[in-house]
This record gives sequence, C-alpha cells and structure tokens, in this order.
Amino acid sequence: MSKFIIALDQGTTSSRAVLFDDKGMCLAIKQKEFRQIFPQQAWVEHDPKEIWETQEAVLNEILELPEVKQGKVLSIGVTNQRETTVIWNRLTGEPIHNALVWQDKRTAPICEDLRKQGLVDYCKKNTGLVIDSYFSGTKIKWILDHVEGSREKAEKGELCFGTIDTWLLWNLTKGGAHATDYSNASRTLIYNIIDLAWDEKMLEALQIPKSILPEVKDSASYFGTYESSVGSIPICAMVGDQQSALFGQACFEKGMAKNTYGTGCFLLMNTGLEIQDSPSGLLNTIAWGLDGTITYALEGSVFVAGAAVQWLRDGLQIIENAEESDTIANSTEDKDVYVVPAFAGLGTPYWDMYSRGAIFGLTRDTGKNHLIKATLESLAYQSKDVLDAMQKDSGIQLQKLQVDGGACANDYLMQFQADVLGVRIERPEMIESTAIGAAYLAGYGVGLWSLDEINQKRKINQVFEVQRSDQWRAHKSKRWNEAVKRTLNWIEPL
Ligand code: ADP
Repeated sequence: MSKFIIALDQGTTSSRAVLFDDKGMCLAIKQKEFRQIFPQQAWVEHDPKEIWETQEAVLNEILELPEVKQGKVLSIGVTNQRETTVIWNRLTGEPIHNALVWQDKRTAPICEDLRKQGLVDYCKKNTGLVIDSYFSGTKIKWILDHVEGSREKAEKGELCFGTIDTWLLWNLTKGGAHATDYSNASRTLIYNIIDLAWDEKMLEALQIPKSILPEVKDSASYFGTYESSVGSIPICAMVGDQQSALFGQACFEKGMAKNTYGTGCFLLMNTGLEIQDSPSGLLNTIAWGLDGTITYALEGSVFVAGAAVQWLRDGLQIIENAEESDTIANSTEDKDVYVVPAFAGLGTPYWDMYSRGAIFGLTRDTGKNHLIKATLESLAYQSKDVLDAMQKDSGIQLQKLQVDGGACANDYLMQFQADVLGVRIERPEMIESTAIGAAYLAGYGVGLWSLDEINQKRKINQVFEVQRSDQWRAHKSKRWNEAVKRTLNWIEPL
C-alpha cells in the first residue's frame, strides 16, 4: 500500500496542500487564494474562517485523489505565514475579530509605548526581536483593547490566541488541541527564547492574560489528530514558513544558510545551540525544536527583491514578464549601472527608513536593458549585505548558499549572486522548500525518516560556481556600497 505525507502550506495570499510519497517526492499541489482585507491604509486583515475553509478544501482535494484513497496518509505537517494573529472563543470556536496580518501597521503606537517603557534592550535579548508591529504581541493587545469585553473574557479563560498554525490545528482537531511550536512562538514578541517560556514581563507590558496562550511544543511532535474521510491522520509537525524552508533545504548544521527570493528576500542562518549576538541588527529566532533540543537561527530580510522586478514590469513597463529579465541581463554588456531599490527605506544592515531608491552610473548610452540588468543585480547586492552582516556577527564564513523562492529560477541572478558573494550557490530540484520542510518534519515526527535520510533526499538541480575574481568582487562591492550611501537619509524625517 502506498504511503503519503501531506504538507499544509498556509501562506499570505493562498492556502496550499502538497502531497508527498514516502520517498519525499512531491506528487500533487492544490491551492486556493483568499481575500486580502484592507479596512484602512496600512491595515491588513484576513478572515480566519476563510483561511480555514480554503485550507480544508485543498486538503480534501488531496484526500480525494484515487491513489490517496487507496493508500495511507501517515502524517500531516503544517507550515504557515508567521506572526499573523487570531483570537477566538474557546467554547464556540468563533474568531472575535479578523486576523491581523503580519503586514498590518496599526499597532505602531503600541510599539512606541513599549519603547518608551524602556523595553528595547530587554526585548532584543529575551525575545530575539526588535519592537515592531510586524510581530504578534502588539496585535493581541490591539484586539483585546478594541473588542468590547474581550479582556475580561480572556481573563476568565474563555478566549484562545493563536498564530495561523495554532488556528489551523484547533480546527483540524475540532477544538481538541491549542498548541504551537517553538519556531512560531519565537515570532510573537511575548516568548522568551532563552528560558523557553512565555515572557512574564512582555505579557505584563502588553496586558495579555496567560490563559489565552497555547502550549509550545517541539516542531516535530504529536500535535493532534485529523479525522478525515480516509481515516485518522496524526498531525506531527508545525513550523513557521521561513524556518520550514531552512529545514527543507536541510540546513541542519551550524553555519548553513538559505536565501528565499520572493517579493522580498528572507535569509536565515542556522546558529546551532547558541543565540548569537547581532550588533548588525539581525533577528534571533528559533529555527526548530527537535527531540527536546532547540536550534537557533539568525534572520535578516530584504524588503524589496522580486518586487523590484515587478516594478520593471508594472511600473516602468520595460519587461513583459519576470522571466524575460534573465535573457536580457545575460545579453546586455556590463556598464556599471547600479539601481538601489530603497522604495520603502532600507533594512538590515542599514535600518534607514528615510532612504529612497536611486539609479547611479547613467551615461548617454545607458538604455533600458542596463536598467533591467542593474535592477536584477540589486537583489544579489542586497542579499550580500545581509549575508555579510550574518557572517560578521556569527564569525562563521559561508561555504555555500542554498536558494529557493520564485526568483531563484533566474540563472543570471544566481550566477551573479555566486560571483558577488564569492560563494557557491546550490539550487535544489524542488524550489518549494517551505512545503518540503513541513513534510520532512512531519515524516521525521512520525518516525518515517531520520535527519540523515532527509539530507540524502535533497536533490541539487544546479550549482553556480564562482566565476569572477576577487578584484572584480571588490570593485563591484565598493561601487554598490557607494551607491547605497548616497541614498541614505534622502527624505526629511516627518
Ligand atoms: P512570494 O512568495 O513572495 O509571493 P514567489 O516566491 O512566488 O514570491 O516569487 C515571486 C516573485 O519573484 C515576484 O516578485 C516576481 O517578480 C519574482 N520572480 C519570479 N520569477 C522570476 C524570474 N524568473 N526572474 C526574476 N524575478 C522573478
């Protein structure tokens, strides 16, 4: 009888269910989009019920496949958009408000208040995070402050808080389990990543009653059971999407790193059993908990990566589609043009919200293709800036970089990335690392695969070796750094 693992990949714009066989091969993907709700400028919400309904629908589509009906699903693994916050009634399962999505900025004043309370250093040291509306803690406070009577209900134990993994688990188990995993807990701003417990001081500062919090468990462990049309299926993994991609890329050893090239870039480096100090302003996060052992990671992100390619297509309208940028860049001579896409300021390691985008090195013969090439290259330079910060803070020299995400399909970009980093790039056969990570963890959790076996499953599709000299690299880095410097502090502070 065929055996399967299913990964539920609950993303920001769609819910997906992905079927794997017991060798770890991906057999089928089902996907449904759901509504993005924008009640006001900078507010972003999802309907939690729609998230659950789309997720259950795609799961059922997978379970209805003839081969699945005749076989056995060994385990489900859940991976999810992180930080997005849901609060629901423990008795009825009804959400008391729409989910506040990670992109939502309405809690900026609450963050300001936390800073005024002098919690910046405490927060960084104990939760690994900077005080920002991105993370769940201030979103929980906002809901409890704004839904009438909710704080009293929370204090009486009548409400549950969860990130999306927890919300899905609650529904998958029909209210039987209220739990999360270490990787998701470490994105809430209220979880102490040193003590591995909810942080009393942050809870107090945000007036969050403990009774609403889920139990925190290893990322691969038994979370509950889904009673499906084809029988009972144990849920054996939960993990945040970026950490899942790190696991899916088999970055199990300290010093291994992956970069996901999507709308933005997300870089994570496994730092092993230690929390690494980061003067460069990277985040500390929990990669996963396995068999009672916590693995930590450094995390940095680039705000505008694939989005800059979208700008070429939709804003400037100088390319028809993203793929085309590959051939154009390859066939265009290098004229030392630099595009700094600081459309929304710059993140790690500059942290300058007043910086804005600019183009450097224009001459009379600069054409649109030079602009396309330079924009593509900006993804690689920005990733290099984050990786340099990681290497500096961790004292670890990268041996290679694993890549995934939509834009990693671009061969020119990958070769250029290898060249500016001076480090080999490995692109896997399946660039769906997020779903694969959850499937691997679910397989590990149910005892199907060991870490060694998972390592062997990972198939490299293409390696990009360094082709340029140190001298070339030094020249390019110098020009890029100079370009960035000239974009800093561009607009007047409000
Ligand atoms: P997300 O998960 O953030 O939605 P994806 O991993 O689906 O992102 O990647 C989509 C992004 O990658 C888009 O911003 C798109 O412009 C960019 N992209 C997709 N394919 C390519 C390509 N071949 N070359 C350059 N950029 C690409």
